[in-house]
Amino acid sequence: MALAKRFSAVETFRAVEMAGYRLLPLRFTALDQERYVISNMVGEYLVVKRDQLNDLIHHRVPQGSDLYDEFKSRHFIRDADSDVALDLLALKYRTKLARVSQFTSLHMFVVTLRCDYTCAYCQVSRQTEDRSAYDMSDDTAAAAVEMTFRSPAPAIKIEFQGGEPLLAFDRIKSVVEMAEARNVQEKRNLQFVIASNLSLISDEILDYCDRHGIYLSTSLDGPSSLHDRNRPKPGKNGYELTIRGIKRIQDRLGRDRVSALMTTTERSLPYVKEIIDEYVRLGFRSIFLRPLSPYGFAVTTGQVDKYDAERWLSFYREGLSYILELNKHGYSIRETYAAIILRKMLTPQNPGYVDLQSPTGLGISAIVYNYDGAVYASDESRMLAEMGDQSFRLGRLGVNSYEEMMLSTTLLDALEAGVAEGAPLCSECAFVPYCGADPVYHHATQRDMMGNKALSGYCARNMAIFRHLIALMEDSLADKAILLRWAFDC
Ligand code: SF4
Repeated sequence: MALAKRFSAVETFRAVEMAGYRLLPLRFTALDQERYVISNMVGEYLVVKRDQLNDLIHHRVPQGSDLYDEFKSRHFIRDADSDVALDLLALKYRTKLARVSQFTSLHMFVVTLRCDYTCAYCQVSRQTEDRSAYDMSDDTAAAAVEMTFRSPAPAIKIEFQGGEPLLAFDRIKSVVEMAEARNVQEKRNLQFVIASNLSLISDEILDYCDRHGIYLSTSLDGPSSLHDRNRPKPGKNGYELTIRGIKRIQDRLGRDRVSALMTTTERSLPYVKEIIDEYVRLGFRSIFLRPLSPYGFAVTTGQVDKYDAERWLSFYREGLSYILELNKHGYSIRETYAAIILRKMLTPQNPGYVDLQSPTGLGISAIVYNYDGAVYASDESRMLAEMGDQSFRLGRLGVNSYEEMMLSTTLLDALEAGVAEGAPLCSECAFVPYCGADPVYHHATQRDMMGNKALSGYCARNMAIFRHLIALMEDSLADKAILLRWAFDC
């Protein structure tokens, strides 16, 4: 008797067959008070009204109707005529996850911890310029290059970080030359990037970057009044040096060889248009509106607590709206985070952005070789370690083997917690195909790698952005045309 009460009768499930179509795996989430987003396992989505959703779930959508055909073509339902639908869905799913099999492609070398800036929110614990004890040694650099090529990835990007990596330019040169020599045999698609404040850029450095095809990436927080307050340099000419550096690279190597990143502090919040104007003035075609990360000096100086997810979102929405206006007036510029998400939403590709990956990209997409030989699962893991938390330290070059590090409990536990499809709330969220897991963020903010997403700033920010982008595309054809371009052009 007890069993009969707990389970529905067999006929309840047979009704699925009788209605003429079967539901394929799908999730739905409210877009606003009237509309719902339905997504399938590969991220194809549709916006429907509540009664349409009800009809879908209860097998009441009439065969032959436009809505029926729409549901069928987006792989939400299948019927007797859909003999290849499951194979097609499986193929799309494999394409989305193809990156996982390629393994680690981004290898970050922290060549020095020394820096000539004193940014209040720096996520790395900088050391003063003259402390060469904080530089990467010959042996560590050689071991890091060796480990880089243990990855089977066909495309390998080596990114030099610091501190200020140009303070250790000789080390950069030795790594570039070791990697190039090794690549004669390996034949990977090898790329180099230096992440620098550009204060030390010189003709010698530019010539070298030219000869070796090295890209540069810098930080630009906005106009001088904002940039210099966010990123103070003793001598107070940080903004001037960065702008001069950007222009020299653009002139000498070409516009596409330098990019810039901004970080949003509390001071930035009223100035999103001015920040974007600064990027336009310098001829940039993209800007990445980034919130502060909860690591390093951003935490110890209290910067990270000065605004919440909601305040940052209104900054982001205002910025996005302004960027769309600029595009409508003929200046083509995209917001990088939106472009990454749109690519996940609208194309079969996965752009491989580490913060929006499931399984998480920790170690298997990106890895960090610290100046002292420690190996971390991501840049954020290194920042956390600088605060005394070694939770994502995989091992040490010259002591632990590649296999020991990649199969370590530390990495495997993080990867297990980093599958969003298996996490509470995420498993039912229509946005999970576009989202990620970010175990380091949740460990840092909640002391739990999986994290309670109901309390997560990461979830609040991403969910609001997913909703906002879908609503923009639903409500304005002009916005949709621009956003589609971002998805397919990046
Ligand atoms: S983190 Fe939030 S937005 Fe992302 S999948 Fe999970 S519940 Fe959805």
